[in-house]
Amino acid sequence: DVIEDKDCKELLKKLPKEIYDILDKAGDVGDRLNEKVYVVGGFVRDLFLNVENWDIDLVVEGDGIAFAIELNKELKGNTKLYKEFGTGMLELENGKTIDIVTARREYYEYPAALPKVEKSTIWSDLFRRDFTINCMAIQLNKDNQGKLIDYFGGFTDLKNKRIRVLYNLSFIEDPTRIFRAIRFLARYNFSLDEETKSFMEQALGENMLSKLSNDRIKEELVYILKEKSLSESLRLMQDLRILSSINNNLNISNEIIDKINSIKSYQDQFKDIFKDINIVLVKVMILLSEVEAEAINGLLDLFCVNKEIRSKIYNGLISKSKVYELLVEEDLDKYCLYQSLHTLSREAILFYYIDSDNAYIRHYLMFYTLNLQNKNISITGEDLKQLNIKPGPIYKDILDYVLEAKIKGLVYSYEDELALAKKHYKALKGEKNV
Ligand code: ATP
Repeated sequence: DVIEDKDCKELLKKLPKEIYDILDKAGDVGDRLNEKVYVVGGFVRDLFLNVENWDIDLVVEGDGIAFAIELNKELKGNTKLYKEFGTGMLELENGKTIDIVTARREYYEYPAALPKVEKSTIWSDLFRRDFTINCMAIQLNKDNQGKLIDYFGGFTDLKNKRIRVLYNLSFIEDPTRIFRAIRFLARYNFSLDEETKSFMEQALGENMLSKLSNDRIKEELVYILKEKSLSESLRLMQDLRILSSINNNLNISNEIIDKINSIKSYQDQFKDIFKDINIVLVKVMILLSEVEAEAINGLLDLFCVNKEIRSKIYNGLISKSKVYELLVEEDLDKYCLYQSLHTLSREAILFYYIDSDNAYIRHYLMFYTLNLQNKNISITGEDLKQLNIKPGPIYKDILDYVLEAKIKGLVYSYEDELALAKKHYKALKGEKNV
């Protein structure tokens, strides 16, 4: 379980040229400034796992800001500098970013606090990190290019597919690491080192998750939601009773985990019809599908990043029983189907499809998606004005009437629509005159 520095150098050279060039230039800049520079963390982990990773994190023993400015001269991107933290970010033309930090030591004033920072060496910079597999660095300076820095046995753990923390209080100091462990366990199909597991259970036993703000929990949960391995993460979190300890309404059944697991196959099956939807929304709806209506709002605080997403999810969940009730009818009118679904997101429609195993419901959902969801009329208020109809609530009555006829297949062309609008206007006027 050892890797020679020369092998590491070879691995760097096998990277896509664009990435290698960046690392090579970083080494040059380090040499010029007479500072040691390393690529660290997830990048190194994924290099050994042969997984492409464009998140280049550099650590500089010296002045990260000056380094960022110099490197940017070579790479010609944009810099964002955070002088008070000694960190910087380069945004390259291809949209990728490079993070640069001054080697630093972090310490916690009290458990679960946000860390305080001070300047330091690569050792302390690695020691502040979460798991051994994320604690490796590779030096980039020319004379030592490819030198692996692995103080904590990360390489062996990687080979043994093991997630291990660096010290016993790791989860107590930063309970978000519990979620990070879950994410890496699920993503790489690794297992938790026995001792690490006992540290985690101890932190959970001491209810450390309750010390995190909803926002910090949300950030971690959203990362987990975005991973392909979500169902595996859920299984792990259920085993460790993590979700119910955050909120006791969050009990994820095996059926839910199976549904989450099936999303991929539906995505493949419907790749043309549902191609540009946000699949994370579908995942959250499935996750919360067994939760009582009153508890939904509280739980959405843990999953939703913005108002729009939140309301799409909320409406999808809240409307479910009403939609299902209607869609089991044998001879459902097309317009009625349209009306019951058209205010809902497409994510909600896919959620219902996955959630329900009723053949009628599924048939109607598909019929709506293929035939009705994009139905629109061609005439507008402007056309009604041309007909000398006085603007007012009557416009909506007329346009809705025409839309209904269109959906039922009674009108096709613009002219048909216009004629029907006229006719309906007359009828409405007639009614009022009576
Ligand atoms: P991903 O592949 O999901 O991006 P990553 O390991 O690159 O994984 P980041 O969240 O980008 O994850 O973090 C970058 C590095 O910072 C990690 O590799 C780890 O060393 C360190 N790190 C991030 N969060 C923590 C934390 N809560 N505690 C300790 N170290 C952390």
